Amino acid sequence: MIRLVVLLICLASHGAAQVGIDPARSVVRDGWWGKLVIELGLNQIVPYRVFTLDEPRRLILDFEGVDFAGLDTDVLVSGSRAQAVRVGPLRPGWSRMVIDLATPMVIAEAGMVTVDQGADLTVVLTRASPDAFAAASGAPPDPGWEVVTGFDPQVAAAIARSEDFVVVVDPGHGGIDPGAHQGGVKEADLVLIMGSELTVQLNDLAGVQAVLTRESDVFVPLSARLTVARKVGADLFISLHADALEVDEAQGASVYTLSADGGEAAAQRIVERHERGDLLAGVDLEAAEDRVATALMDLARAETGPASRRFAEALVASMVAEGVRMNSNPRREGQFAALSAADFPSVLIEAGFLSNAEDRAILATAQGRARIVRAISDTVALLAR
Ligand SMILES: [Zn+2]
Repeated sequence: MIRLVVLLICLASHGAAQVGIDPARSVVRDGWWGKLVIELGLNQIVPYRVFTLDEPRRLILDFEGVDFAGLDTDVLVSGSRAQAVRVGPLRPGWSRMVIDLATPMVIAEAGMVTVDQGADLTVVLTRASPDAFAAASGAPPDPGWEVVTGFDPQVAAAIARSEDFVVVVDPGHGGIDPGAHQGGVKEADLVLIMGSELTVQLNDLAGVQAVLTRESDVFVPLSARLTVARKVGADLFISLHADALEVDEAQGASVYTLSADGGEAAAQRIVERHERGDLLAGVDLEAAEDRVATALMDLARAETGPASRRFAEALVASMVAEGVRMNSNPRREGQFAALSAADFPSVLIEAGFLSNAEDRAILATAQGRARIVRAISDTVALLAR
C-alpha cells in the first residue's frame, strides 16, 4: 500500500487572497467497489497535502489559504460511507479537513487540476485490510511546510558561516508551475538554464558563492525559496523570470524591486500566510503581534530596501552596457512575494517576454542569455568587492 503525500502549490503565488470552497462543486460520495470519492471545488489552485491517520481511522486534507466558511459539512458527507467531516484552522495560513472513515481505506488517487472556476481536487480511497491501512497511515515524516528543495542543512550552515558574498539565484516556477509557455519555450526551463549559467559565472568570482533555489524541473514553494536564502545567509536574492503578456508589444528586460508601498502590504500578507519564525532570520516572531512583526520587518527593510534599489540600478546600467535588449521602462517596482524578504536585498529580473518573438529568439540562445548573465555577474562583482 502506498502512503501518498501530495504537496502542490499555486502558480506565481503573489500573495493570493483567501481561497474559497464551492459547496456546489464539493461532495463526498461512495464509488464502485467500496470506494470513497472526495471531490472539492476551490476557486483557485492551492498547495495541499493528503494522508491517512490511524486510531481512529481518518483522512486528513491540509490546504494553504482555504477558508471553509459556507461549507455545510453534514451535507458534504450525507449519503456516503464517510462518518463525519470536520474542518478548521491548522496553523497560520493553513486549514485542515478531517474525514472519519468507517472502515480501513487507503488513498488510491489524489490530484488537483485547474478548471474554469478555479481548481478541482479529487481523492479516491479504496478498501484495504486493517493492516494495510495501518501500514499506509501516519503523518508525513516531515510535515513538508517548507521542504521540496533538498538543500543539505550542514552545507547551508557552512555557506552561511563563510566570509563569502552569498548570492541566491532563484529560477522562477518549475514542476507543476511551468510559468509562461510560448512558441515552444517554457519559462520554467528557460530560467533554470539561465540560473545555472549565472551560478557558474558567479562561482568564478573571488569571494562569491552562488546557490540555486532549484536545480531541476521541480516545484519549490516560495516560502521554501526564501528559507533556502535564509539558511545560506543570503547577501543578495535574484529571482529570474521571463513572463508573457497578452499584448506582444511588451519586450525587453527589466529589473524589479519591491514597490515602496508594497512592503507593508507584502509583509502583512506574509505574516498572515507563513510561519512567523520564517519571516526574519534571527528574530523570533512566533509570539509577536502582527503589528510588531510588521514593524520589525519594516525596520529590517529600511536597510535592505535601499540596497536592493542600488543593485537594481547598477544592474540596469550594466545590462545597457552589455547591449541587452531592454524594456522601454527597465527599472520597475512591483508587489512580488518573491521580493518580500526583509532581511536581505532582493531583485526580480524579467529577462524578456516570451510573448515577444524577438525576445524569445534571443533568450533561446546561449549568446543571448550570456549578455544578461554577464551583466548580473559584473554587477555582483562590483557589489561584493
Ligand atoms: Zn515568471
